[in-house]
Amino acid sequence: MRPHGICHAVGSRAERLCVLTETTFKTLGLAEPLLKALAAEKYETPTPIQAQAIPVLLEGGDIFGLAQTGTGKTAAFTLPLLQRLTAERKTAGPRGTRALILAPTRELAVQIGESIRTYSRFAPVTSVVITGGVNQFRQVKALARGVDIVVATPGRLLDLAKQGHLVLHSAQTLILDEADRMFDMGFIRDIRKIVGMLPLKRHTMLFSATMPPEIEKLAREILQHPKRIEVTPKVITVDRIDQHVYHVDGRAKRALLSELIADPAMARIIVFTRTKHGANRLAEQLVRDGHSADAIHGNKSQSARQRALEDFRDARSRILVATDIAARGIDVDGITHVVNFDLPNEPESYVHRIGRTARAGASGIAISFCDPSERKYLRDIERLIKRTLAPANMPELPKNAPMDSASDRERSAGDRRPWQGKAKPNRGGPGGGGNNRPKGDRPREAGAGKPAKAGFRRGRNNGSRAA
Ligand code: AMP
Repeated sequence: MRPHGICHAVGSRAERLCVLTETTFKTLGLAEPLLKALAAEKYETPTPIQAQAIPVLLEGGDIFGLAQTGTGKTAAFTLPLLQRLTAERKTAGPRGTRALILAPTRELAVQIGESIRTYSRFAPVTSVVITGGVNQFRQVKALARGVDIVVATPGRLLDLAKQGHLVLHSAQTLILDEADRMFDMGFIRDIRKIVGMLPLKRHTMLFSATMPPEIEKLAREILQHPKRIEVTPKVITVDRIDQHVYHVDGRAKRALLSELIADPAMARIIVFTRTKHGANRLAEQLVRDGHSADAIHGNKSQSARQRALEDFRDARSRILVATDIAARGIDVDGITHVVNFDLPNEPESYVHRIGRTARAGASGIAISFCDPSERKYLRDIERLIKRTLAPANMPELPKNAPMDSASDRERSAGDRRPWQGKAKPNRGGPGGGGNNRPKGDRPREAGAGKPAKAGFRRGRNNGSRAA
């Protein structure tokens, strides 16, 4: 793990400096085995969320944390959990667990699992990551004897619980991470089901980057006298990121991208598309054009996603084409450029996307492509970040530059608007679940679906999700 990318997404100078507090991990009350692991990771100072949350959690209090990735929230909830589990010296019974951590995506679950292993190097705690997209055999085997911590995405967890491979009645701790994303992905009902399987008397934490009313409501239902900790300001701006926008016809976006990436200064690029099909298609085109590129989205198998991420992290591929949900857990250093090939229709996603660059104190560049149909999204983004994106001058595109045909774009629109003709989602975008999900369209973990065949997903309401 890298030493700190803390407060990178936090607006004011004072907030960025707040990491330099007098507090140390020792004064927060953490035990020696954890301090040793933190020293090995070269974590010197607790981040603000760690400084606020760790003492409360060590005392057994519930927490409602408003924080996004990059603030150090994983350690904030993992360290006290490990301390409590080791101090209690209990074991989970067969098929049982002592603590459950729920995450919306496989990537995030895997990342949390890695953090647990890192921080528990010197503490005797067992853990397992349970996600869809892989054979359940090893997960079932790991659960059979009982395990201290289960990190899971909701869909597979419920499947295993239904099959009787996991019992939750003795889980004393519940942690919900990125609760707003769970809501976006239509998991709220599953979450409520899972919470119903846990004992009423338990220790509960809920973390969310944003606070839509549904999450406030869920928090009221499942937390008891929580301490509210907020390290994300209401308006997030990432001020170390140079942001600009190209006003470009949709058909010329690809040619514009080719032109821009000819610049070797664009060393490590993440390109966001709105749809899975769009991500596949673009990655394929980039590879055909001789670039090292890969796509990551919810229809890829778990191993394909991990491979794409590792190739990108280890610089074997220069360009990663991603959809929003798949990108949530991506914590890769040294991303020089974020390109919004399609503008997100939820302005908060813009902030999350561009936050992939300028991590660990670095600066970064975010480039957005805006075609006339996306002007509204641009306005929403500018309203949220309280600034206008500087328009960039269009470079001259080669005369024979590839133009996307109308049918290509139409096909993209096919998986862009799965609800068309039926109810609209609550939050105006793909993946916005809520109660308006078309009937029979079970919320799906990012990636729980079968691999999509590029180009075959035509037509309306095919049930595919946007990530
Ligand atoms: P998170 O917000 O949990 O995704 O953490 C963001 C990054 O910060 C991860 O790469 C962590 O390893 C790192 N990190 C967390 N806490 C600290 C700390 N106190 N000092 C340095 N790095 C940290």
